Amino acid sequence: MADTSDKNASFMRSLCLGEIREDMIFPFPQIKAEEKETLKATFDAFSTWLRGREKEFREWDVKGHLPAEFLQQMREFGLFGFIIPEKHGGMGFSTSAYSRTIQELSRFESSVALTAGAHSSIGMRGLLIFGTEAQKDKYLPKLATGEMIAAFCLTEPGSGSDAASIKTTAVRKGDKWVINGEKLWITNGGIADFFTVFARTDTKEGKMTAFIVTRDMKGVSNGPHEDKMGIRASSTTTILLDNVEVGDEHVLDEVGKGFKVAMRILNAGRTGLGGGSVGAMKEAIAHCTKQAKQRAQFGKPIAEFGLVKQKIGHMVVETFATESTVSMVSGLVDQGYDDYAVEAAISKVFATECLWRTVDEALQIAGGNGFMREFPYERMMRDCRINRIFEGTNEILRLFIALTGMNDVGSELKELSSSLGNVFSDPIKGFGVLSDYARKRVSYATGVGKSELTKSHPDLKNAAIVFNDGAQRLGTFADRLLRKHGKKIVDSQFATRRLADVMIDLFALGCTISRVTSMIESKGSAACSKEKEILTVFSGQCRRRINGNIGKIDENDDELIKSLADDAVEAESYRWDTI
Ligand SMILES: Cc1cc2nc3c(=O)[nH]c(=O)nc-3n(C[C@H](O)[C@H](O)[C@H](O)COP(=O)(O)OP(=O)(O)OC[C@H]3O[C@@H](n4cnc5c(N)ncnc54)[C@H](O)[C@@H]3O)c2cc1C
Repeated sequence: MADTSDKNASFMRSLCLGEIREDMIFPFPQIKAEEKETLKATFDAFSTWLRGREKEFREWDVKGHLPAEFLQQMREFGLFGFIIPEKHGGMGFSTSAYSRTIQELSRFESSVALTAGAHSSIGMRGLLIFGTEAQKDKYLPKLATGEMIAAFCLTEPGSGSDAASIKTTAVRKGDKWVINGEKLWITNGGIADFFTVFARTDTKEGKMTAFIVTRDMKGVSNGPHEDKMGIRASSTTTILLDNVEVGDEHVLDEVGKGFKVAMRILNAGRTGLGGGSVGAMKEAIAHCTKQAKQRAQFGKPIAEFGLVKQKIGHMVVETFATESTVSMVSGLVDQGYDDYAVEAAISKVFATECLWRTVDEALQIAGGNGFMREFPYERMMRDCRINRIFEGTNEILRLFIALTGMNDVGSELKELSSSLGNVFSDPIKGFGVLSDYARKRVSYATGVGKSELTKSHPDLKNAAIVFNDGAQRLGTFADRLLRKHGKKIVDSQFATRRLADVMIDLFALGCTISRVTSMIESKGSAACSKEKEILTVFSGQCRRRINGNIGKIDENDDELIKSLADDAVEAESYRWDTI
């Protein structure tokens, strides 16, 4: 039985060790009733304010510009105060309510959602998490009203995914720090007054430190507005820091802890990005279903053709599973769980990839219209493409997801191998001296004492079987990869990706089972027939993908693919032609 009081637990990290901490994901988290009322009123206000302005949104996209008057309206609508506590003038939304709000904004205009989202999710999140009372008192009231808009400044020309390699420096000079460097592609860069800046402080305390920098400081400026593929109306610029002097009261958290600060902010921010993805998916479905009903070919609406139904059905399934996953992560944060980094990374990867497929298929259903700027699809596609790149690329996040899981399994392996010698080369010999881990391995192999879902509704038995089987195989999968690749696992990215994908499917499936269980418990099974259909389809997809990934441990084309890639990179081209 899981210890529900353990707020340091991670559902997925436990799962990698063979334990299903179902108390963490059951019952499905709900937004509190009072907060629901506030959200309804807020969304009604959004609707009155934003509905019917598609022509303006299109113009802003073409010009790559968000008008100053509109930015002022955003301030007046309170779009910058969502997560700031009420005592500092904000709305004090829970993580779930915040994520749901970004979802709603994304249904109207992605650049608007991003401007508000980057401010709250990452721009000022460090101040909320790590700020001193004095820092909070000084800045939060202005950040809540939007008098100050916030930006998060980590990326540099030479440092993207490898965030630890930043070159911006902060050097001690008397009682000041002097910051010099250039930050690249900073969302809100042209409109922000409050910057969370990461700089190298090669001190004995550590290499990187986070600082609060404000627009009014001498030496702070931004470059021109970037001409982007999507989210074009949002502000993206460089931020230049030229001998910017700040005192110790501008250090966020402690000197030398900047990398940890950056990662905590990005983890927390992922609930906003997930919410935005759900909103855009719902919007894509609303557009393409209308189009499929209205557009007739071969004498009937295209919605009646199997291949169109197939796309729409999959969009519904992926949207429901994404919504379940994103809501679960927000719920974990609201319940006070501390270690949700793997789950947040999973929700970001899953949400942004489901969104990409959904928008792509919606555009396909719209046919030639989908390609025309007059219709919303091409802009949605351009707008959502960035989600797989920023706030941690999906590749880096997959490595993080899988390597965290394997690190845990590896630690148990290490402990075990020191006490049991070569037990893994001859497991039978080790049976007399079972550690926890070895016991779990036996349970994987024999099914005796294995951890299973007990809280899923009996009507969802088949989906629960897929989850339980997958969970049972996950630990052995990680363990086999570790034995096969040993220390080289860090560089065995083909294998790591497969493990990450199994973890992604299992978490999304667990969240979806939990959600449908809660729905059945509140509405009754008969009223949830569609939700059960969704779960049947989704669990089938997960089962096939999990089997496929686990089946490729030993039999795969990895070496051939690597060889072809090396060859193309060496030639810097595709080698073949037919003439
Ligand atoms: C519109 C926009 C807004 C942004 N907003 C902000 C912001 O507000 N603040 C901020 O600090 N940054 C921001 N960024 C930067 C963004 O976070 C980075 O672009 C992102 O982290 C990736 O870094 P990179 O572009 O340098 O790509 P790179 O790190 O050069 O990666 C290029 C490719 O290589 C892959 N790759 C890299 N390393 C590995 C590896 N070890 N294994 C496997 N694959 C790997 C990546 O996944 C990617 O596919 C923004 C970027 C854009 C485009």
